[in-house]
Amino acid sequence: MAEFDLIARIAAVAGQRADVLLGIGDDGALLLPPAGQHLVAVCDTLNAGVHFPLDTAAAAIGWKALAVNLSDLAAMGAEPAWALLALSLPEADTAFVEAVMQGFSELAACHGVALAGGDTTRGPLALSVTALGFVPAGQALRRDGACAGDEVWVSGSLGDAAAALALPAAGSDAAALRQRLDRPQPRLALGRALRGRASAAIDLSDGLLADLDHIARASAVGIEIQADSLPISPALARQADAMTRLHWQASGGDDYELAFCLPPHQAATVQTEARRQGLPLTRIGRVVAGTGVRLLDARGNPICLSRTGWEHFSGASA
Ligand code: ADP
Ligand code: MG
Repeated sequence: MAEFDLIARIAAVAGQRADVLLGIGDDGALLLPPAGQHLVAVCDTLNAGVHFPLDTAAAAIGWKALAVNLSDLAAMGAEPAWALLALSLPEADTAFVEAVMQGFSELAACHGVALAGGDTTRGPLALSVTALGFVPAGQALRRDGACAGDEVWVSGSLGDAAAALALPAAGSDAAALRQRLDRPQPRLALGRALRGRASAAIDLSDGLLADLDHIARASAVGIEIQADSLPISPALARQADAMTRLHWQASGGDDYELAFCLPPHQAATVQTEARRQGLPLTRIGRVVAGTGVRLLDARGNPICLSRTGWEHFSGASA
């Protein structure tokens, strides 16, 4: 039976944790959550050709399916523990599944995650992961706590993944950008460091401005972002023109960085902790009274980004 052979190969790389009382092999997993902690549950699906390009390496598909879920746990300030994997496959291709699981289990091992169960079916290639983690009761990071006067910060750099989708795939810069698209690094240690310090947090999957809008709405505040403060990688800084790069940074998706709001007195502590982790942080704006997210140029004029380009509301030139 091809399905049982595939499940046996998946089970062989599931990883182990003492709190998995019963893992792959029965009708359900038995998991032991720690006392006094809240269980954080997230679920994200990757569909072939929609959430990753059809030419994506199998190991990268497995890595990314887990990474986007761990990124959601990071944005909640959670410690990851368990994952479930629903795998839809066009055919029972053992070599392909082993390569997918190599990428998945490589990232799982980095963060101590055990695969506790899942489902394997025939259909268009898709991976749906449920990830479970813990956060001390009352300490989860949420979207609804930002206050006027808070600073807005972001981890890492922005726009690499969007540029990888848009640019030709030749050269070492293209390889660096493609790595950001294929193998995002969930910012779990940063998320934990933000507990009790950040007033709001979100992970960046749909693009900085769109994702910050979720914080603005949930918190009933406005957000102002300085366009010239957005962090950029060396590889991206060498591509295209300034406005195209800004478009990728501000509205490109798939960054999987954390954006968060900090009361000003928390900034030094959080920066020290991130430096210890080797993760750059950048202050990119502020929370204000009002509604919506505005991208501002150096003179404080709003910049409007559209899918096809950009324009200043003010009519001023950049
Ligand atoms: P059932 O028919 O009871 O739903 P399955 O035959 O689908 O059981 O699954 C058998 C066992 O294998 C279960 O423990 C299930 O969680 C696990 N499993 C199936 N597919 C996967 C997968 N893609 N990843 C991890 N575990 C899986
Ligand atoms: Mg069953």
